[in-house]
Amino acid sequence: MFILKAEELTAYLEERKGALWEYALEQEEISSGKSREEIRRQMEQTLCVMERSADMARREPVRSVSGLTGGNAWKYETYRSEEKSILGKIPSLAAGMALSCSEVNASMQCIVACPTAGSCGIVPAAVLACAQGRGLDRETMVEGLFTASAVGILIGSRATLAGAEGGCQAECGSAAAMAAAAVVEMLGGTPKMAFHAAAMALKSVLGLTCDPVAGLVEIPCIKRNASGAVNALLCADLALAGVESYIPFDEVVDAMYAVGKAMPKALRETAKGGLAVTPTGLRMKGNLEAGKQSTCE
Ligand code: SF4
Repeated sequence: MFILKAEELTAYLEERKGALWEYALEQEEISSGKSREEIRRQMEQTLCVMERSADMARREPVRSVSGLTGGNAWKYETYRSEEKSILGKIPSLAAGMALSCSEVNASMQCIVACPTAGSCGIVPAAVLACAQGRGLDRETMVEGLFTASAVGILIGSRATLAGAEGGCQAECGSAAAMAAAAVVEMLGGTPKMAFHAAAMALKSVLGLTCDPVAGLVEIPCIKRNASGAVNALLCADLALAGVESYIPFDEVVDAMYAVGKAMPKALRETAKGGLAVTPTGLRMKGNLEAGKQSTCE
């Protein structure tokens, strides 16, 4: 049985001097009956899909099927390549990669939902940018994805990963928590540090609403992926420096779930509140319904 409490899981791994990624891999071996090699191979295929989606919209502009959004990953990549970014190389690369994955998602091409399609850019961006910036190998990236999956399993079992149930904190917040933990272990941090990073990433967006314009996973989703990736890197950095979350991970997850349940339906993916009902959001929706491509983006 997967240990679903971070506190217990940390103690278990400390005793065995194990890592979260190893634990997730072992558990998958038990539950699927597949060999370690096969599971690793599958995860590497997942990594390949992530790499393609993180690159595609940075190389050339990709527009969404609705026509509402697109081209921003390419625009940001051009700016980055001119060394204009005020962020460091790794965070700016992560932001661009997250935009790319999300734009690829909005164009209905292949992405990895991790944990959801709406938040598909955060884990790949943090893992790939960190690996690229620090010269880490593919094996380490694959292990980072197992770390991310362990954190996702804990959040999904204690609370929710769905924007319709818990708001965007449950989607982009969980993705940032997963990504932060992955980066910590990829850089040699302990499971305890990984959970502190995850807790800090989730706390940073507690209360974040799900309010997509016109009900499409585009505005604000695409840019929330960019900020989620940078949030994950920041929290991983804090944890690796020894900074701890005052509120433990399990309690942060419980608080996230309680906040999600307290949110009105209008703020849980119904497109009836928040940014979706701003004058601009409503105008964009009206234009789409009237068959006109929006010019607001
Ligand atoms: S705003 Fe809603 S649909 Fe968009 S990423 Fe967040 S949870 Fe998903």
